Amino acid sequence: MSLLRVSGLAKSFGGVRAVDDVGFELAAGQLLALIGPNGAGKSTLFNIVNGQLAPDRGSVLLDGQELVGRTPRAIWRLGVGRTFQIAETFASLTVVENVQMALLSHDRRPYSPWRRAADWRRGDALALLEQVGLRAQADLRCGVLAYGDVKSVELAIAIAHEPRLLLMDEPTAGMAPPERHALMALTRRLVAERGMAVLFTEHSMDAVFGYADRVIVLARGRLIADGSPQQIRDDRQVQQVYLGTGSDAVSHSNV
Ligand code: ADP
Ligand code: MG
Repeated sequence: MSLLRVSGLAKSFGGVRAVDDVGFELAAGQLLALIGPNGAGKSTLFNIVNGQLAPDRGSVLLDGQELVGRTPRAIWRLGVGRTFQIAETFASLTVVENVQMALLSHDRRPYSPWRRAADWRRGDALALLEQVGLRAQADLRCGVLAYGDVKSVELAIAIAHEPRLLLMDEPTAGMAPPERHALMALTRRLVAERGMAVLFTEHSMDAVFGYADRVIVLARGRLIADGSPQQIRDDRQVQQVYLGTGSDAVSHSNV
């Protein structure tokens, strides 16, 4: 049975059908890429799933529970996590303190400057850092980390909440190819180890075709394809959409 089941989802902004009757499923332990040209509706779809945006119509079931109509906080508690941007990581805290903060919020304990962060679940935080390959950087301030390492910290923070479904909107934006591959390989490994489901958007086709189990394609709000990376690469309609935007990234991707 699918962990996530989206059906008949629709959202318009004025006359623009940003998401137009979209349906798909995602099973636990799967890495699903959502691709499409700029303005296709990817972020709108994400924001409906995480509760920041109410759809005009449709249903989003997580393990059979309806998410539409719930607050982002309630959806987060049900196990839908997302990665946050670099600016939201506290650059002046150390790597391990950032993860400890995430664990505090997972435990629903308010952060208090009176308690030394060092006392709080440091061992658990270090274990998470071990999983993302950052154990050695634990006591460095986030502000001094390389960009790719900051992204790994963001991933550790996101999985501190033990999400069943993790949403990643353009996780590798601004990354050089080696960092991008490292982050995707790490995500791939976490999906396998944790049986977590991941829905991610990407512009980089090597990240999509190299790592996703399945790919869905949006164009002008419509879902035009749903299949394996190979099926998507061979799909004429998908190729046309990308050629139509002046990009031959799909047909010429050589991963
Ligand atoms: P993507 O993430 O695929 O680039 P978006 O979901 O951001 O696409 O946008 C889909 C369409 O909806 C675009 O035409 C965009 O201009 C429009 N749109 C998105 N958000 C809003 C908004 N808050 N108000 C008005 N129009 C919006
Ligand atoms: Mg977007």
